[in-house]
Amino acid sequence: MADVEALTEPSRKNGCTLPPHITQVIAWVVLVVFGVLHFTTLVPALHNSWQPAAHAVPGVVIFVHLIVHVATLTIDPCDDKVLQAKLPKVKFNRAKHSFVIEDGHCNVCQVDVGYYKDSKIRHCRECNKCVKNFDHHCPWLNTCIGGKNYRWYIATLATALVALVLVTGIAVMEFITYFTDKNDRNILQPYRDLDATLHYKDADFQILYQRVLMRRGLPC
Ligand SMILES: [Zn+2]
Ligand SMILES: [Zn+2]
Repeated sequence: MADVEALTEPSRKNGCTLPPHITQVIAWVVLVVFGVLHFTTLVPALHNSWQPAAHAVPGVVIFVHLIVHVATLTIDPCDDKVLQAKLPKVKFNRAKHSFVIEDGHCNVCQVDVGYYKDSKIRHCRECNKCVKNFDHHCPWLNTCIGGKNYRWYIATLATALVALVLVTGIAVMEFITYFTDKNDRNILQPYRDLDATLHYKDADFQILYQRVLMRRGLPC
């Protein structure tokens, strides 16, 4: 039995520890796609007077999101007593113990971590470590959310939500105004750029798309 318990098992340090979770990869892909889509396609299609705000506001929100996102990823939420422990983590021995934490002692971290009602401590199976004030293990960030990184996590959620609402809102607005702004030409810049010789009815999607490409310096 002693041989079984002697088998050590590594723990994840934080959200940057390899390998990444598939949902963590999806989160970063969505973040990059939204950012590229916004700054290279949605903003150039807006009227010139709208573009500074359309660059600045989502830009600041996305920048702040990146900071708090990386902060949440890099903070190790592990309990201090476990961090200071000298003994290695061992594989849980179900034949010997009913629970990972028994009587305030973690049988994997090999540390007296205290009782749940006092510290809300839990041993995370994915991270293989005890986390104080444990909230949940977030697959999108691939790290535990606990007392040490909870505020950063909330800031990550809040800024992601604001950025999502801004970018999606602008995309929906452009989609609607594509059909409704042809006469006023107050919102979509490509329509405003149309030559006087062009009649409104010629302002179809092809022209709109070509104007966006021209503004981005791309061949069309
Ligand atoms: Zn533990
Ligand atoms: Zn975890």
